[in-house]
Amino acid sequence: MKKTFDAATRALPHVQNLHAYVPGDQPQGTGWVKLNTNENPYPASPKVGEAVAAQVGQLRKYPEPVSRELRTAIAERFGLSTSNVIIGNGSDNILDLITRCFVSEAGAGHTVPSYSLYPVVAGMSDKGLVDVPFTRDMKLDLDAIAATHASVFFLTSPNAPTGVAFSLAEIASLLERIDGLLVVDEAYVDFGGETAIPLLAEYQNLVVVRTFSKSYGLAGMRVGFAMADAGIIGMLDRVRDAYNLDRVAQAAALAAFEDVQYFEVQRQKVIATRERTRAGLDALGWFTYPSASNFLFTEPLDATGAKGAEVALSLFEHLKSAKVLVRYFPSHPLTCAFIRVSIGTDAEMETFITVVESWLKHA
Ligand code: PMP
Repeated sequence: MKKTFDAATRALPHVQNLHAYVPGDQPQGTGWVKLNTNENPYPASPKVGEAVAAQVGQLRKYPEPVSRELRTAIAERFGLSTSNVIIGNGSDNILDLITRCFVSEAGAGHTVPSYSLYPVVAGMSDKGLVDVPFTRDMKLDLDAIAATHASVFFLTSPNAPTGVAFSLAEIASLLERIDGLLVVDEAYVDFGGETAIPLLAEYQNLVVVRTFSKSYGLAGMRVGFAMADAGIIGMLDRVRDAYNLDRVAQAAALAAFEDVQYFEVQRQKVIATRERTRAGLDALGWFTYPSASNFLFTEPLDATGAKGAEVALSLFEHLKSAKVLVRYFPSHPLTCAFIRVSIGTDAEMETFITVVESWLKHA
């Protein structure tokens, strides 16, 4: 007889209770207009291809373990030293390293809504997570955040899924008021927000997290980074996998980072398309949050002027049946009447608007 092992009861209790992160759909077929996971619609710099090709013959060798060249390039760009930068296998990896190092029994904190990975990383470390709810105006409640006394507070700016950015003044005031670490997740900042990097000079309790997945068009490569006081980076390095970034990813990210001109052109194209799309939604009379990111969070009105969860779900499904994928977050009252639309190419956004118009005619 086969020897049995009941993983469902033998896994540690916090793992038994863990809800894994649910990523947006990644359909494998062709013909989709994919506006659901905030990827860049444009390919990464052509220099990335050359850099990747140059690594292929080197794959028998381990990568350089700390991604030093990339750390140094990032540090120089932002006026920091190499000891202030760490590279992760995606910024998700960095968020997990921070949690493992710094979330104590006091738990972590985050705003609701924000990025839905934070509950997962806190759960993986068997730590609690305090919610600080937004109201519809999406303004930061500094008092409520300070009152959490969280050992680590995750703040997404610009926020997801709303696209709303917070000011440097608000972030500085938060850093003054809290004892714990403030992690400012700037995954989308290149599309419009104010970066918190200048505050690193004044606040040791700040970590700024960034990614190559969005503005650099490298989501498939998995590269993120964090900038902080050297003492913090040193701790994160202790819990990092020894070879957390393969040599292809290191080379690709460096090539993308150094092609500043290409980066700037693509970034501006996405911003211009966002503003055009926003104008289209405004013309329909829909409420859309001001976006400093590469997506729009909008509250659809149907042909009768009605809004709400049923309306948003109906549009989401209509778009999906026309092979246009957007994201719908049904489980929270502040999100269930909205859809989140990533910014694609101009042609993709025209398709999106055309399908919206067909829904308005037929719903
Ligand atoms: N932070 C936020 C706010 C995000 O939306 C995402 C992407 N879903 C990430 C971090 C993770 O990005 P990465 O691909 O670098 O892991």
